[in-house]
Amino acid sequence: MLRGQKACVTGANSGIGLATAVAMGRAGADVVVNYVVGADEADKVVEQIEAFGVRAYAHEADVSDEQQVADMVARMVKEFGTIDIMVANAGLQRDSALTEMTLAEWQKVIDVNLTGQFLCAREAAKEFVRRGVVEEVSRSAGKIICMSSVHQIIPWSGHVNYASSKGGVGMLMQTLAQELAPHKIRVNAIGPGAIRTPINRDAWSTPQAEASLLQLIPYGRVGDPDDIANAVVAMASDLLDYVVGTTLYVDGGMTLFPGFATGG
Ligand code: NAP
Repeated sequence: MLRGQKACVTGANSGIGLATAVAMGRAGADVVVNYVVGADEADKVVEQIEAFGVRAYAHEADVSDEQQVADMVARMVKEFGTIDIMVANAGLQRDSALTEMTLAEWQKVIDVNLTGQFLCAREAAKEFVRRGVVEEVSRSAGKIICMSSVHQIIPWSGHVNYASSKGGVGMLMQTLAQELAPHKIRVNAIGPGAIRTPINRDAWSTPQAEASLLQLIPYGRVGDPDDIANAVVAMASDLLDYVVGTTLYVDGGMTLFPGFATGG
């Protein structure tokens, strides 16, 4: 589905990013596996991707660092010739009640989750605009896929930094989609619900925690990283070429406000 395309996945040595990088390789793309710490894990992801007969390499970069992101995309253009897909996935949580939250905790989450996506989108878009559409590769000049969250629209007490970053990602994505669509660049977001990864281990790692979480998920199961990876591949493919500026929630119905199924 993505044969001949060049994809960069940020935060690809863990969780959703890892599954997405592997799924991109399975779909035929050459892949840059970005990581910030954990080179060994990134190398293992590269091995998994290379087993599909495509090219991959690991690249260390902090997505909140302007120069490091510019260098990451510049290296990709040098080694792979160009970039077709940017998956701005890297993200983190620093949870705290508002009255306890430090400015550093607020700033770190905004820097990585929101500014990081801005920097990755900007550097990819420069190359997309320079190169334009190559018909044999894809109908579009490039795809930017922002990893958002159901917290793009669901407020989340005790996580104001995270929820604000994802709300910001929603508007970042829509504004970039509007600005870049005339260049035949598609910008969209994926909004995962509760997915079993290290970022939210406390929410699913005990039977009690999982039972409580399932009350928020009408479809009755916690998501797997592959649920998101498959959605990213579909979003990047020409099958969804007319999808521009949309957030695809992949959440087992979490955004259906399940509390209203019996209340309200
Ligand atoms: P995860 O397993 O913790 O993965 C997050 C990845 O981001 C890690 O590889 C992490 O690297 C990387 N990262 C953190 N700071 C970075 C930086 N400054 N530069 C580059 N990479 C950095 O969590 P995940 O669940 O897969 O999260 C992936 C994305 O999905 C995030 O944007 C998250 O907000 C979103 N999401 C997740 C869920 C869920 O339920 N899991 C739900 C909604 C949205 P290190 O481990 O080396 O720090």
